[in-house]
Amino acid sequence: MNKKLQVGILGATGTVGQRLIQLLENHPWFEVRELGASDHSIGQKYREACHWRVSGSMPKFVQELPLRNCQPPFGVDLIFSVLPSSIAGPTELSFARAGYPVVSNSKNHRMAEDVPLLVPEINPNHLELIPVQQKKRGFGSGFVITNPNCTTIALILVLAPLDKVFGLQQVSVVTMQALSGAGYPGVPSLDIIDNVLPYIEGEEEKVELEPLKILGKYQSGKIICSDFKISAQCHRVNVQEGHLEAVSVKFNQTPTKSQLIEVLANCQSVDLPSAPRKSVIYLESPDRPQPRLDRNLGSGMSVAVGRIRPCSVFDYKFELLGHNTIRGAAGAAVLNAELLYKKKLLMAQQKV
Ligand code: NAP
Repeated sequence: MNKKLQVGILGATGTVGQRLIQLLENHPWFEVRELGASDHSIGQKYREACHWRVSGSMPKFVQELPLRNCQPPFGVDLIFSVLPSSIAGPTELSFARAGYPVVSNSKNHRMAEDVPLLVPEINPNHLELIPVQQKKRGFGSGFVITNPNCTTIALILVLAPLDKVFGLQQVSVVTMQALSGAGYPGVPSLDIIDNVLPYIEGEEEKVELEPLKILGKYQSGKIICSDFKISAQCHRVNVQEGHLEAVSVKFNQTPTKSQLIEVLANCQSVDLPSAPRKSVIYLESPDRPQPRLDRNLGSGMSVAVGRIRPCSVFDYKFELLGHNTIRGAAGAAVLNAELLYKKKLLMAQQKV
């Protein structure tokens, strides 16, 4: 049996960090070795510093690990970064400069032209940017890859297969986003009980830009972004987990409803340990998907889609739902790391 690669987590005590630890427990290829957090946690054991808020109990393997600062060196082969964007940018670059592959969940480097914004089912060839990035930034064996924003990834897993077959022309999306998307403690309870917040700072810009890069074509060391139009309106709602999105789409070649359903009902995922069997699950019932009922489909790694119907302004409209801290964050990062491993892009694999 191959020796597992050692991994470190920056931001291990947070909402996404806890999910990451849960998903990496008993992982076939990775073993969590080092944990980083902020100054007020440093020196404490994980169980002392972390208020565990994920379902189930804190995994035993992590309880006694000490928390340390988020500066290299770490005694690991791979870094997961789930840091707040206020510090993620320079911290991730310092690890890449020190020779570590960095799998980032933060927004800072997503749109950088030499950084892959990766979704294994959609654009694995964007990993060709890694040598471009290493050369441009003088990184040696280190590099940064990123996963999309939690709203974008659910949307793009549905849009990508449709774009491939029918061609996207215009997309409008109205989101109803869960509270856990704002980290902990997030939105004050008095702001969100009996209420909907019609503004999430920076979110609409991310949802309008990131899909164009993800669906872009890799060509001569660059991504040529796709050029269909997206309009996003984002809202925070009183739901714990699961982002619901109401989507309207105009295509280059308008499909019939059954053609549309056939494409969405046949979205296979990829052959990686954390991948669901299907990246998209089509639900026929007219009142689905719903966050409470459908967010854990495919262990939180599948996107649910339903209510497909003609639209009097665009061609079709439908609802989709993604688990924001699993497929939208920690699970997406683990899947990206698994793709790096499978493609033997982690230097440490040569030693294993
Ligand atoms: P969070 O719950 O606020 O956790 C932040 C983590 O970073 C904690 O471990 C915290 O450690 C640590 N940290 C804070 N300031 C630090 C500093 N100056 N130096 C070192 N460590 C520091 O945040 P989150 O919701 O997990 O989000 C993490 C990242 O993922 C963010 O960039 C966010 O935008 C992104 N993201 C989140 C979601 C989601 O659904 N929540 C989805 C997609 C992407 P302490 O415990 O010591 O304070």
